[in-house]
Amino acid sequence: MLAEGNMPDMRSIEEGLRKAALSAASAVLVQLLDSIPETAPTCPCCGRPMRNLGKRSKKIVSLLGNGEISRNYYECESCHKYAAPKDAVLGIEDTMFTPGVRRVAAKLGSCDSFESGSATMDELCGIVVSSKDIERISEAIGNEFENRNKKDIQSALSGELHEPRAERVPTMYIEFDGTGIPMTKRETEGRRGKQEDGASKTREAKVGCIFTQTATDSEGSPVRDKGSTTYFGAIETSENFGDRLYSEAVKRDVSSAEKVVIIGDGARWIWNLANLHFPGAIEIVDLFHAKEHIWELVKQFVRDEKSRARYKKKWYTLLEKGNISALTREFASLKAIGDEQRKQIDREIGYFNDNANRMQYAKFKAEGLFVGSGVIEAACKNVIGKRLKQSGMHWSLRGANDIIALRCAVLSGRFDASFDSLAAA
Ligand SMILES: [Zn+2]
Repeated sequence: MLAEGNMPDMRSIEEGLRKAALSAASAVLVQLLDSIPETAPTCPCCGRPMRNLGKRSKKIVSLLGNGEISRNYYECESCHKYAAPKDAVLGIEDTMFTPGVRRVAAKLGSCDSFESGSATMDELCGIVVSSKDIERISEAIGNEFENRNKKDIQSALSGELHEPRAERVPTMYIEFDGTGIPMTKRETEGRRGKQEDGASKTREAKVGCIFTQTATDSEGSPVRDKGSTTYFGAIETSENFGDRLYSEAVKRDVSSAEKVVIIGDGARWIWNLANLHFPGAIEIVDLFHAKEHIWELVKQFVRDEKSRARYKKKWYTLLEKGNISALTREFASLKAIGDEQRKQIDREIGYFNDNANRMQYAKFKAEGLFVGSGVIEAACKNVIGKRLKQSGMHWSLRGANDIIALRCAVLSGRFDASFDSLAAA
């Protein structure tokens, strides 16, 4: 019995008890792992049986905290190879962190900075894993996910990737875009960029998402199917990204979709990839990007506020009706002063004429389709911005791509299945 007045506060009690419980459980875990039988291995080089050098201990960090297991250590006398076969059985080859700890560490590393992941691990699990180890674990697992993605891409291209057929999907949307990631100096050396001296501090990650739509709401506006969005991306060439895009579409069983819709801003690489991989898809230029183009022209060529509002309303209406020829006739009647302005008007006329079929907004809306690229814009912020563009962050190419792979798996709801399949492989 504790004497009254000596009573520790509740938080100390629960935290103390949790520590004691974890420590007791850790001892049980160590005993349990020790008791798992192991078989003598043969040498991976020459195939001869290896000699048992006796028990060696190994420190481990499990979800129960620090522990130490003891397992047999073997040597091949002719090749001088060493092996502790039990490590492979327990999933702790070349690492002291158990699969349970690695799973949590990678998940935390995908959510926030490695420092913050380390602090959260300590706070919530009572386990000390340095931020450097959170980083190593997260990037190693992200890298394995990315290797898996690359294999999938190869099988998709060779026609061998067959996912179980999805249920019939009325409409599948594919959206993609680019966003800059701050890189270390080494990764941007010699690359052209937006800095004053023509140098670059960032590299563009290409990000895509796929989602489906079955229904419209009572007002006829499309509704994205809940939980249907998957994400993918990397810092890579648009050609490689196109293959990644195609592979993800195969995974999502694009062939079972009645309609495939690609929404993007006006950037040419987007439509080139769309034409290459999804010929026959409905292509839509994001309505808000198109409006931005109009608004820029209005600001440039219309002086007073009242007329600006009038022009904006008139031209937005033409755009929403999909009457692009009338719209570009309006542009052509603008009075340009000098060559530069003339060129600007011609450029905009070209942009709208080239994309006229992708701007049939009245028709798209009547079909109950999305006409905005809000989902991919949110995805760029969510997949990349929140995690990879925090202040002071600078990435290596490989580190960034590993974390993108990890984060896409988490946000696509694939992390656990992917993690488990790594262990099973
Ligand atoms: Zn050998």
